[in-house]
Amino acid sequence: MHFQVADQIDAFRAEVRDFLRKNLPADLAMRFQKMRAAPADLLRWQRILNANGWGGPYWPKAHGGTGWTVQERLVFDEECSIAGAPSPDIFAHKLIGPALNHFGTPEQKARHAGGIIRGDSLWCQGFSEPGSGSDLASLRTAAVLQDDHYVVNGQKIWTSYAHQSDWIFMLVRTDPTVKKQAGITMLLADMKSPGITVRPILSIDGRHHLNEVFIEDLRIPVSNRVGEEGDGWKITKFLLNNEHASAAELHVLQGYLRRLKQLATEWGTGTEPLIARPNFALQLARFEAEVNAIAMMVSRVAAMEQAGNLSPEAHALGCMLKVRATELQQSMSLFLVESSGDCGAIAYPTDHGTPPKLAYPFQEVVGGIASEAFFRRASTIYGGSSEVQRGIASSLLFQF
Ligand SMILES: Cc1cc2nc3c(=O)[nH]c(=O)nc-3n(C[C@H](O)[C@H](O)[C@H](O)COP(=O)(O)OP(=O)(O)OC[C@H]3O[C@@H](n4cnc5c(N)ncnc54)[C@H](O)[C@@H]3O)c2cc1C
Repeated sequence: MHFQVADQIDAFRAEVRDFLRKNLPADLAMRFQKMRAAPADLLRWQRILNANGWGGPYWPKAHGGTGWTVQERLVFDEECSIAGAPSPDIFAHKLIGPALNHFGTPEQKARHAGGIIRGDSLWCQGFSEPGSGSDLASLRTAAVLQDDHYVVNGQKIWTSYAHQSDWIFMLVRTDPTVKKQAGITMLLADMKSPGITVRPILSIDGRHHLNEVFIEDLRIPVSNRVGEEGDGWKITKFLLNNEHASAAELHVLQGYLRRLKQLATEWGTGTEPLIARPNFALQLARFEAEVNAIAMMVSRVAAMEQAGNLSPEAHALGCMLKVRATELQQSMSLFLVESSGDCGAIAYPTDHGTPPKLAYPFQEVVGGIASEAFFRRASTIYGGSSEVQRGIASSLLFQF
């Protein structure tokens, strides 16, 4: 891993800040971070980034990206979070985009990977099924080849933002007779296709972001297959290996730390600010140390992922990072709730409807935090549950 010298990274940070100051429209900038911007806002922001040549902030230059280093990407995410810029569509930028760049046909690259950069479309991930989450390879959604189309039947579940997406990348079983991993294929489908029905699942955070996706006699052209038939598991491993560093969501942890520091001095009881309380100050110091430790680990894991390091050590580190960072997301968001007294306990999502008016500094600093703390309960489940990550890491450690 190579860290850039401080001057270089400071200059890059100044460039990003300057860009955000000049180009982030006021109505897109969120005073406190929404969990996810509205689809039209996401695409609008993507087009603004692309007009500046920053449409692929996580991709190499060869694939139409910025070619930024790991540190530059982390600085970009942090500065966007501070400015309140919409977070990118991670399913597009971090999952299917890199997979298409690696395994896609020239047509898929031009239309879909290019479309992600241009801000043409939003994507969702159709992997999990009822009964097939951690044991993903047991999935049952079946695709049968008929002439130049696959006819697909089955069901997906927990499909984040399916109701707001233009396209879905899904895993289907094309051969039930071989070893379960070998019979899986990845297909791309237009969400407007006949045969796709999306039903909402409302979650404990009060939001609608999860869905069930029912698939009935959906016809997908063979040209929408990624890789060869039976390549689905190989592509999935590639795609999920790219996910560990981003699953840590370092910019979210950094945001929690900023908000805690703001509360520390701007809120308290009587004339005493929160920071004067030894228990609060100690916990804040612990969180700062932990966020810094995660930042170092993210840099290390991201550098390994970027270099295509598929060693057991890299994989185990990625699993450990996912576990530790998501646990920290939970404890920090909960501490924010606890530190905000009555105002923190008002649970409302920031991306649905009009938030209630709270007195300063609550609206700005902890608006929606109870809803977010509820959402974070799921962070140790999605992207691979903590139990499963621990199991993988421990089995890999014996291979060192
Ligand atoms: C908020 C949220 C968003 C999501 N978004 C998407 C999405 O966009 N697309 C998508 O495809 N999926 C999505 N998922 C699904 C997610 O990937 C699965 O929930 C996850 O993989 C766990 O699978 P499961 O829910 O079937 O639980 P199960 O696999 O049934 O696990 C149940 C429990 O058993 C434990 N367990 C399972 N296997 C083992 C093992 N081998 N060792 C030890 N413990 C084990 C688990 O840790 C868990 O505690 C999302 C989930 C959530 C909560």
